[in-house]
Amino acid sequence: MTHPTPVLDPDQIYLSHDRWVCGEAACAGITAQHIGATTSGARLRPVAADDVIGWERAGLGALTCECRRLTASLGQDNAVVIERSA
Ligand SMILES: [Zn+2]
Repeated sequence: MTHPTPVLDPDQIYLSHDRWVCGEAACAGITAQHIGATTSGARLRPVAADDVIGWERAGLGALTCECRRLTASLGQDNAVVIERSA
């Protein structure tokens, strides 16, 4: 029995096709957690500063992953800061 190593950081928010997810299997999905892509082949990429800015400009509030465990905001020098919600 093998125990593949997740390729996603559990404390990072990723864009998974059209969803914001964190690196946890319950949020990203077990396939994405281990191969970094969805079952339909879309590669996950970490949230970027432009994403956070665009999200706020669109009036969508705080950018959180789907399980709402993590929130992305902008820190100094427009660096993305990921914080745990709970
Ligand atoms: Zn999550």
